[in-house]
Amino acid sequence: MSKSKIVIGNWKMNKSFDEAEDLITTIEESLADYQLETEVVLCPPAIYAELVTDHASLEDSRFYAGLQNVSEYDNGAYTGEVSASMLASMDVDFCIVGHSERRKYFGETDTVVLKKMRQLLDQQLIPVMCCGEILEDRKSGRHQDVVKAQIEATLYELTPEQMERTMVAYEPVWAIGTGETATPAQAQEMLAFIRSLIEKKFGTEVAYNTYILYGGSCNAANALSIFSQPDVDGGLIGGASLKADEFIKIIEAAETAGKDN
Ligand code: PEP
Repeated sequence: MSKSKIVIGNWKMNKSFDEAEDLITTIEESLADYQLETEVVLCPPAIYAELVTDHASLEDSRFYAGLQNVSEYDNGAYTGEVSASMLASMDVDFCIVGHSERRKYFGETDTVVLKKMRQLLDQQLIPVMCCGEILEDRKSGRHQDVVKAQIEATLYELTPEQMERTMVAYEPVWAIGTGETATPAQAQEMLAFIRSLIEKKFGTEVAYNTYILYGGSCNAANALSIFSQPDVDGGLIGGASLKADEFIKIIEAAETAGKDN
């Protein structure tokens, strides 16, 4: 049985309130005509969460609400932080964790990533755990070792039940926001490798059911060839999710790839 694809838009720290509202409305109107099997998740900056949850909660909504980050702590005196229970109380369903920008600019380690995943899982949210190697690691052939270490330090610490509620996004750091995309073969090779790691620890069924996405300069032109790879369950989209027409084309590619698989 084939799985439907998932396309997640990561807006990062972009858009004014009005622009965010425009983008959501345009995406919603554009998707209204589709009978989609592809699941769509929009991850705006946290301050705009309600804009997305308001739309996502509509009965005929075509997308889910997600965010880009969450606190590793429960609640209390952590100025500037947003807790998983707050996300849950606003009906946010998904949250990205361990994005390479958070690892690089905010010192997020695998230990912190794991804490954040547990916070989200405790609140019944779906973590989208990002992993990926830097260019040096790819050039020296260490890319699988790096990703394996990230997976072992995070996913391997989950219970099987928690793993079943977790998604993974492979995002080679050298491809994020650079315009340089992994080839479909590189994406497939790494996603199959990640799936094999999950299988080793959690078994074949969990590994098959786990959504593993590709992210890194994915756009309307390259999405279909990447999404058509057997282990690619969809995409985490940064820059191209900021333009409604481009994002819709990526969703169309996911839909086509999902039907052809
Ligand atoms: C991302 O930030 O998750 C991402 C994939 O960015 P981009 O698509 O812009 O490379």
